[in-house]
Amino acid sequence: MILQCPSCRSVRIAANHTGHKVCTSVGTVAGVASGIAAATSGARIGATVGALAGPAGSALGGLAGALLGGLVGGVAGGSAGAALGDFIDENILDSFECMECGHTFNVDTD
Ligand SMILES: [Zn+2]
Repeated sequence: MILQCPSCRSVRIAANHTGHKVCTSVGTVAGVASGIAAATSGARIGATVGALAGPAGSALGGLAGALLGGLVGGVAGGSAGAALGDFIDENILDSFECMECGHTFNVDTD
């Protein structure tokens, strides 16, 4: 699909993904925050399982559980945020900008 400016018919179009960028960041932060909660229980489970291998195993298990919980939360939040941002970009914000005349517009998807 070739994008064209609805105002001047130029094909020099730049995509703005403001919603995508903002929501990915916010989603990642929110995900990490909830991931911290998951990390706490992850650490507890890891420490319990690791305790079977002795005190060193308990410490390592706790660390691994905490890292996994935080990481999974951050990635999940970031993905959810990116999806939401794409939706906002496509439906609410003007997603494209003409490099010739500066006109911003949205693409009609139907
Ligand atoms: Zn234009």
